[in-house]
Amino acid sequence: MTERVVDVAGLPGEPLPLARPREVEAETSAARAGGPAPDWQRSDFCGTLRAADEGKVVVLDGWVQRIRDHGQLVFLDLRDRTGVVQVTCDASRTPEVHAVVRDLKPESVVAVRGRVRRRAPGAENPRMATGEIEVEPERLLVLAAAKTPPFPIGAHAPGEVDERLRLRHRYLDLRRPEMFAHLVLRHRFVKAARDFFDARGFLEIETPMLTRSTPEGARDFLVPSRLEPGSFYALPQSPQLFKQLLMVAGVERYVQFVRCFRDEDLRADRQPEHTQIDVEMSFVTQEDVLATMEAMMIHALGAVGRRPPGPFRRMSYREAIDRYGSDKPDLRFGLAIADLGPAAAGLPFPPFAKALGEGGSVRALVVPGGARLSRREIEGLAEEARERGASGLVWLAGGPDGWRGPLARPLAEAGDDAAARFLAALREGLAGPDGEAAGGLEGSLALLVAGPAEAASAALGHIRLRLAERLSLVPDGRDAFVWVTDFPMFEWNEEESRWDAKHHPFTAPHEEDLDALLTDPGRVRAHAYDLVWNGVELGSGSLRIHRRDVQERVFRAIGLGDEEAREKFGFLLEAFEYGVPPHGGMALGLDRIAMLVAGAATIREVIAFPKSASGADPLTGAPAAVDPSQLLPLGIEVRRGAPKA
Ligand code: ASP
Repeated sequence: MTERVVDVAGLPGEPLPLARPREVEAETSAARAGGPAPDWQRSDFCGTLRAADEGKVVVLDGWVQRIRDHGQLVFLDLRDRTGVVQVTCDASRTPEVHAVVRDLKPESVVAVRGRVRRRAPGAENPRMATGEIEVEPERLLVLAAAKTPPFPIGAHAPGEVDERLRLRHRYLDLRRPEMFAHLVLRHRFVKAARDFFDARGFLEIETPMLTRSTPEGARDFLVPSRLEPGSFYALPQSPQLFKQLLMVAGVERYVQFVRCFRDEDLRADRQPEHTQIDVEMSFVTQEDVLATMEAMMIHALGAVGRRPPGPFRRMSYREAIDRYGSDKPDLRFGLAIADLGPAAAGLPFPPFAKALGEGGSVRALVVPGGARLSRREIEGLAEEARERGASGLVWLAGGPDGWRGPLARPLAEAGDDAAARFLAALREGLAGPDGEAAGGLEGSLALLVAGPAEAASAALGHIRLRLAERLSLVPDGRDAFVWVTDFPMFEWNEEESRWDAKHHPFTAPHEEDLDALLTDPGRVRAHAYDLVWNGVELGSGSLRIHRRDVQERVFRAIGLGDEEAREKFGFLLEAFEYGVPPHGGMALGLDRIAMLVAGAATIREVIAFPKSASGADPLTGAPAAVDPSQLLPLGIEVRRGAPKA
């Protein structure tokens, strides 16, 4: 197991403020009865002692990180949340302390009174913040003995300790400096965000946890009502309707760091509960919301040592899909998808002619340096493209001796003009929309998909990300933020043969698309936007509908009858009759932001007490059966073996 010292105090930002007990006492001026005797009053923190403290008598509290027994000398690494300091016990100077320390188990809690001294020359440890000094103990108190922990409290390589075991003993896992640093990071980010909003007149307002279903498209967690058996509260999927009601109430600027619950099918990195930075503003344009959220991100990321380059890029949903095959494009690298259009028609290659003839397109990734991929690797990519719905993927690699691949022959057989046009289109594709990659086609690899435009782009979008990994296209330390705007208002629900709201049904459609609401819903664009960081969607938002007639048409477009709309959202519609300001907002996922800042592999790493990937909590055993006597007053009976939905 590698030992790595993580200096929490070394996180960017202010030093971790830990008020000393005496200061706390001075503040509260309440004398503590029955506390430790004054000479055991903690005076300092382990991780903050330095050479300048030489000669000082200190009292430290903490956990035994490890004991190294060298006979006459026993070294105790003492850890508190600020870091680790070495306590060196010499049998010839303090035999009683020496004898006790030898028998101490790691993770026991002790208090040490001793003197700070410089380490002997050559014994310094430059990897430790406190590596120049050590503490020579005079006395030691064992405050609580510990059992041998199920895993060491040092740095773990990912996967080195089974995650279930870590979650089962999360209180031990959180003692690890890396994990504690995640808690600090989260705290600092939230604090900075909160200050940012406060300075701009936002009010932090709590909305109910026991409420009605909210239309975010996921399944609700339900809470049975005892007072009205057979009725249920829903835990909020978001405070959407309440924050809109707060705008009707005249609050104008709302923010909440709020827990939201979505009972979704488990995917690797989903949690049934997550924290959103939830915002709503009145009398604003889309631009106002974007500018506010962008400034907040730059400010709060600054508080955790990240300086994202602003202004963030903007890209319409259409462009994101066409160019990157995704509504959350990773723009840390180029490799945009090119539409070869008519240039592809010039090649004597029937699949191209067929796709174009059917109103589809021929799209390509032109990969600089890609010709070095082996035929097998390219075939592997073709297989993945097919799995993603492409009818096939053909390729053309430029080598010093000419072209290779299935398109080499059609290219050779095309007329000079047609071949030149095709190669010019590839060259344009290589340069990308911003002309970011220059150079010739030699050494590059073109991967082409023919078929319906969106399917072709989606398949290539997937391949693009695979290539970025394989060819290490993401430059170290680069960050790319992008606002994806103008999402479609609706998406087709194949299973139920109807249109669904893509964001939620309170999203405002573009004014100029209103006439298509009922006639051609697929064409309607919404004032809806996502913020994307390095290919990860951080959150969504929109301007909201504040006209009753538009709201009614949107409900109708998604097949929600007047009766049902009134039943579900009548309270909101009624509120809207009493003077509703134009408003809009968004919500950003705090867990995802913390995960990306920490460079963590999953959001579970940045949540104090997360659920496992299967939605369980190995620490408390939740979810768990309850006593039948608890179910009785709720009018609920559990049927064993009921089919899973
Ligand atoms: N309620 C939305 C969500 O949770 C965010 C918003 O539209 O403000 O995704």
